[in-house]
Amino acid sequence: MTDRHERTLNYLRLGVTDRCNLRCFYCMPEAGIAYSPRENLLTYEEMLRLLTVTANLGVNKIRITGGEPFVRRDMDKFIANLARIDGIDTVNLTTNGTLTADLVSEFKNIGINSVNLSLDSLDRDRFFDITRRDLLPQVMQTLEELLQHDIPVKINAVVMPGRNIDDLVPLAELAKDNPLSVRFIEEMPFNGTGRTYENFAWNHTAIERHLRENLPALTRLPFVKSATAQEYKIDGYRGKVGIIAAYTRSFCGTCNRLRLTPQGVLKTCLYDSGVFNIKDFMRNGATDSELAALLQNAVHGKAKDGHAAEAGRNAAFESMTSIGG
Ligand code: SAM
Ligand code: SF4
Repeated sequence: MTDRHERTLNYLRLGVTDRCNLRCFYCMPEAGIAYSPRENLLTYEEMLRLLTVTANLGVNKIRITGGEPFVRRDMDKFIANLARIDGIDTVNLTTNGTLTADLVSEFKNIGINSVNLSLDSLDRDRFFDITRRDLLPQVMQTLEELLQHDIPVKINAVVMPGRNIDDLVPLAELAKDNPLSVRFIEEMPFNGTGRTYENFAWNHTAIERHLRENLPALTRLPFVKSATAQEYKIDGYRGKVGIIAAYTRSFCGTCNRLRLTPQGVLKTCLYDSGVFNIKDFMRNGATDSELAALLQNAVHGKAKDGHAAEAGRNAAFESMTSIGG
């Protein structure tokens, strides 16, 4: 599938649930959000059907995200089924790691190729302050298991002034002895409260400056097409660090991503308000070729970048948990 800006879209981020067991302050209000009634969520059968349609259209890379994927029952069986779909080559997972330590040994068997583990602080009190749950030990156990099982892992850390700036260097230092990539993400206004960022001080430039001031010789690596992170190597480190300019949106030119929310809303950009709800078409009897035509048409209209998508937005920023971050 190609859009009108000549980008080929081969990557789908699938939000498998809007439920979560954490309440990360940048993602959800403390009291949580109003979850969708179950009948409004795509069933596993519906998701598998859609992924078969998109695989036939060339979408060969899937990221499972949410909400927290593993709060949904039988997630491991669902992932195993989707990994078997013809045309799907890569299945990646984004997880908060609080429920997964005992499952990691099965990840390779069920077809998970790599894991992005969200971890914003190595300090238990600050982790609690950010996520409103005291579950850091569980996340660290998942990390240990992932490394032990040689599963490629990237750490995702959202950069939050006043919350975890003192954690950036200790987090980056995880890459010293471990073959992992630690990526620092600009905070985006998807917190479910409508709070936006007028004084956006901790952008990618400020993050890079902070890392340069505190770490030995950071060398910028060539930007990889369609990537979100600018990566860096550090002398003497086994792993790498990266910076994701998610709010600045400097990587849209080679974007290859589509999103499907847990409710079945197709988004061709994180910053758009959703193109249409494909579940409604499926439940009204659309055939696979009708679904394919709808998808191709939506992809064609993908906004040039996240700023253009935001300008055309007709809704307030929602919580990342209901978008599929
Ligand atoms: N629950 C899983 C997790 O936390 O990894 C998957 C869903 S979560 C919404 C996906 C990613 O989005 C996480 O790495 C999280 O840190 C990131 N995220 C959530 N809200 C964000 C925000 N407002 N700005 C930047 N990143 C955000
Ligand atoms: Fe849950 Fe992930 Fe959102 Fe945190 S970032 S509240 S773990 S969905």
